[in-house]
Amino acid sequence: MGERIFIGVAWPYADGPLHLGHIAGAYLPSDIFARYHRLKGNEVLMVSGSDQHGTPITIKAEQAGKKPEEIVNHYHQQFLDSWQKLGISFDLFTRTGTANHAEVSHDFFLTLLNRGYIYKATVSQPFCPQCRRFLSDRYVEGTCPYCHFSGARGDQCEECGKPMTPAELIDPRCKLCATTPQFKDSEHFFFKLSAFQDRLLAWMKKQTHWRQNVLNFTMRYVEEGLKDRAITRDIDWGVPVPLDGFEGKRLYVWFEAVIGYLSATKEWAKSSGDEAKWRSFWQGNEARSYYFIGKDNIIFHTTIWPAMLMGYDGLNLPYDVPANEFLTIEGSKLSTSRNWAVWLPDYLSRYEPDPLRYLLSISMPETADTNFSWREFVRRNNDELVATYGNLVHRVLTFVYRNFDGSVPAPGEFDSRSQAVIDMAKDTLNTVDRLLSQCHFREAMRSAMSLAQDTNRYLEEKSPWKVIKENKQAAATALYVAISVISCLRTALYPFLPFSSQKLHEFLGFEGSVGDDGWQPHFPSPGQKLLPPEPLFSKLDEGLIEEEVSRLGHVTHNL
Ligand SMILES: [Zn+2]
Ligand SMILES: [Zn+2]
Repeated sequence: MGERIFIGVAWPYADGPLHLGHIAGAYLPSDIFARYHRLKGNEVLMVSGSDQHGTPITIKAEQAGKKPEEIVNHYHQQFLDSWQKLGISFDLFTRTGTANHAEVSHDFFLTLLNRGYIYKATVSQPFCPQCRRFLSDRYVEGTCPYCHFSGARGDQCEECGKPMTPAELIDPRCKLCATTPQFKDSEHFFFKLSAFQDRLLAWMKKQTHWRQNVLNFTMRYVEEGLKDRAITRDIDWGVPVPLDGFEGKRLYVWFEAVIGYLSATKEWAKSSGDEAKWRSFWQGNEARSYYFIGKDNIIFHTTIWPAMLMGYDGLNLPYDVPANEFLTIEGSKLSTSRNWAVWLPDYLSRYEPDPLRYLLSISMPETADTNFSWREFVRRNNDELVATYGNLVHRVLTFVYRNFDGSVPAPGEFDSRSQAVIDMAKDTLNTVDRLLSQCHFREAMRSAMSLAQDTNRYLEEKSPWKVIKENKQAAATALYVAISVISCLRTALYPFLPFSSQKLHEFLGFEGSVGDDGWQPHFPSPGQKLLPPEPLFSKLDEGLIEEEVSRLGHVTHNL
């Protein structure tokens, strides 16, 4: 029986365009993982959605003279467009503004309240006398009490990653006008995170399959002692509090956005016509859930969301949280405010999706930060994607197409060298299979590429282009072996490079979608008709490097 895999992916905040850091951090690895499992014949559900509540969107709307809805509608559409162009294959990409999400969040809130895991308390909230508003946590800035970084935000220190409350900051100031905020009393609900300390620790100690950096970071955080967290805010844009007397307050985004994984599953089940189907991904031992996020989101997915699930009771805890580290751009830390970022819609308006998917896969920030540079993008495209893989495919398919009547040649007997290449192709498929099942994406991609390299060496030795004049059978055998390897690469690389794998699938004369072909060495049969081949990838001009680098730090994005 196949496995059942739930894939939750970080909810992008709908106040700006996506950039390559988001893609390398969460969206590409989750898509590779989903495509791989579907190809294996497993049942996959991959969901996410636009996170559309919270103060930054209201402030952005105010500044632009628009309604918050207009801002989030614009970016939600843009996200959907980007997924389609980059090939990120969500089963559902919804948003936190749906009635369904409010309903599921309310149920979650009330259940935790009834079980005693939510309580009411009066707290002092930062209020800016200059702006005349309560400031949400991230709109208070100051010095981090843990690492003394001077630009720490009131919800989290971006430098050391610790969650925070504004009252903990040293020298707090309003982010909008730099005035020192006053603290005013306000009644709010709290989630009793501290009650889960021991249960969480006991659970975490069993997660030995987690990435070392994720596990260590989480353990350190929990061992320092968990504090209860406010789950409501003084704001009017968000999911309402489902109780009388709290009309001016909303659920805090961190609390309701993680519930989105569950509400999206329920929405997906409803639209499939089988409303109870959500249970198969959330209850019982049949399903494993994976959460793909960037490292700034680790605590919410390894500690807070699991605690909420423990409190709710009866829903599956995360099986793995393969969080990625950060992507730097041209050697410097990515910064959206300084426009030191490569924006996904810009990339997609100028280049093909697979070269980016290739580059971000082969240098994925799985265990440490990695760097994106346009020089590396051009080099890896030209020297690896085109020269190693693309040329192997194109050289073999065009030669066979011209000399063997447009169909797969019938091989003679394999010598030991040819047999070794066939065996290596099968081994590589097994290796990539194992690596992908463990979320080792970079290594899996390298393993597939080294098969392409070895096959190029094999073809140089056998030189079918020369041999064909005196021994057509020997040439046919070598080319048949190469086509068989190419067919394996089509499968192994499909999760990473879905667009070119589909083209190759068609050139090889297979029908339908490569995604339905299964994870197995499926060799073309002798006589199988090929389609006229075209290059899978194109070389990029080095001139683009300077042009692209000069855009950094200058482009402004206005809605
Ligand atoms: Zn800090
Ligand atoms: Zn202010």
